[in-house]
Amino acid sequence: MYHNRNFRYNAFFAQSFFPLLDSVQSVVSNPRQKNMNIHEYQGKDILRKFGVAVPKGIVALSPDEAKQAAKQLFEETGSSVVVVKAQIHAGGRGKAGGVKLAKSPEEAFAIASEMIGLTLVTHQTGPEGKEVRRLLVEEGMNIEKEFYVGITLDRSTSKNVLMISTEGGMEIEKVAEESPERLLKIQIDPLFGMQGFQAREAAFFLGLQGDQFRNAVNFITALYNAYTSIDASLAEINPLVITKEGKVIALDAKINFDDNALYRHKDFVELRDIHEEDPFEVEASKSNLNYVRLDGNVGCMVNGAGLAMGTMDMIQLAGGKPANFLDVGGTANAQTVEEGFKIIMSDKNVKAILINIFGGIVRCDRVASGIIEAAKKIDLHLPVIVRLEGTNAPIAQKMLDESGLNLIAAKGLRDAAQKVQEALAIA
Ligand code: GDP
Ligand code: MN
Repeated sequence: MYHNRNFRYNAFFAQSFFPLLDSVQSVVSNPRQKNMNIHEYQGKDILRKFGVAVPKGIVALSPDEAKQAAKQLFEETGSSVVVVKAQIHAGGRGKAGGVKLAKSPEEAFAIASEMIGLTLVTHQTGPEGKEVRRLLVEEGMNIEKEFYVGITLDRSTSKNVLMISTEGGMEIEKVAEESPERLLKIQIDPLFGMQGFQAREAAFFLGLQGDQFRNAVNFITALYNAYTSIDASLAEINPLVITKEGKVIALDAKINFDDNALYRHKDFVELRDIHEEDPFEVEASKSNLNYVRLDGNVGCMVNGAGLAMGTMDMIQLAGGKPANFLDVGGTANAQTVEEGFKIIMSDKNVKAILINIFGGIVRCDRVASGIIEAAKKIDLHLPVIVRLEGTNAPIAQKMLDESGLNLIAAKGLRDAAQKVQEALAIA
């Protein structure tokens, strides 16, 4: 019990100092909460079914298809431009050259030739960028104003929150920070759903009148309906535009699903694009491990999300950087430990591994034999610091000491973090 309290305190303490942990917060706060991301065109297809206004668009996988799509859109819509948009699971494409206007099918062909295969680096992709494999060719819009509309779950109120801003096309985090008066947040009670007055309050905040006002109210109502019906964890339209013709339409769409609810939407699973996901995370999910890759050098293998978070905090406090979040679950056996090792070691940045397992349900000696068995099976060339606490911990420690392997037994979390540092200094 004492140890439990101790690490909780540390987790709390360290978290306030290390914003890194924010990035895994949503995963950590509920170990099973992950959010499947889909492409813009897929999101728009879904929204269209719920009556949310989106432009006409066609997916293209080659320059020829882009040309054909453009031709069809020019004929069907009578619009003078089409927009060629890179489909990657990241925003900020506009500024990075992933959104371009074409005035003819030939121009669409030329743009597509350049865009497909290009690695786009945006503020959301990380420095390695993302390769463009699919395009969305869309009818062009005569934009008069760009707004922001987003719906997500507010964990602090346990309600869905509708966010509205007059600053469309900008990063909403920046708006929230720099000009919070331009961002309206409306809490929506999940029991009652979105009320008419709430949608009107949102449209009013955007300064709309007449038809534009009514169209915006309909848009927001339909968006909320879509969000709840598909069990989304995020529905973000940035920008939502008012066209010169008075239409209120989604120029962009970012939809995330709550993975916990995917069993209710079997048809959505095929929307997953493995190319967009971290290959290590894909591998881990096959073995039912909760793995989130980070950019540090200390691989962690822990049972329980809370303990994993505490462990990451301790590594950070001792001056290291966690390379990942990995929760192997309550029953850490030889097989899960082996899978865990493989996934951690496939990350070339890892210089040391910290195993921190609490033997509450599972006995420490069982875990120790699992670790030893797995370590013998794979070519383990990294120092492994092991902290086992709980039932039969002394026996486990003895087993590790006598194994003849590069396994360093640690007593307590602080000692473990210290030994990680020492191992890194030598490595
Ligand atoms: P993001 O940068 O990845 O968020 O991609 P968006 O889909 O939001 O597009 C970025 C920007 O491209 C938008 O804010 C618009 O200014 C511009 N854009 C997108 N579609 C059109 C269009 O149909 N017509 C015009 N004129 N601009 C567009
Ligand atoms: Mn956008």
